[in-house]
Amino acid sequence: MNQHVLIVEDEVKIASLLQDYLVQSGFEATVIHNGSEVEAWLAGNQTSIILLDLMLPGKSGVDICKDVRKSSSLPIIMITAKVEEIDRLLGLELGADDYICKPFSPREVVARVKAVLRRSESTEQLSDKGLVLDTD
Ligand code: CA
Repeated sequence: MNQHVLIVEDEVKIASLLQDYLVQSGFEATVIHNGSEVEAWLAGNQTSIILLDLMLPGKSGVDICKDVRKSSSLPIIMITAKVEEIDRLLGLELGADDYICKPFSPREVVARVKAVLRRSESTEQLSDKGLVLDTD
């Protein structure tokens, strides 16, 4: 089965560009434009990784990241429009696996997705309620 990427991005053009590149690279990709829809989607669907924009209508990328981390170690790549934001985000210790700054090349994003997935597969972890079992 192809690995699945959830793209959470309200800019329609960027989202569909990313989706095209990921699909061409052999992934399945779903796009969500509104932050408030992510939780319900995750409850009913499986994904391998999330590409998460910081500024979203409905619910911010920061809040989504925090909520996902409460219950899962699903890989997350945050997307932000400002390089300076990355320092602030790192300081918040959101638990995101990587950060990408706009403007980015879709090819770079695909490469980062692959890298993060490789990393997460090699250190597979089971987690529940803040307890993490590192199978290594
Ligand atoms: Ca945005």
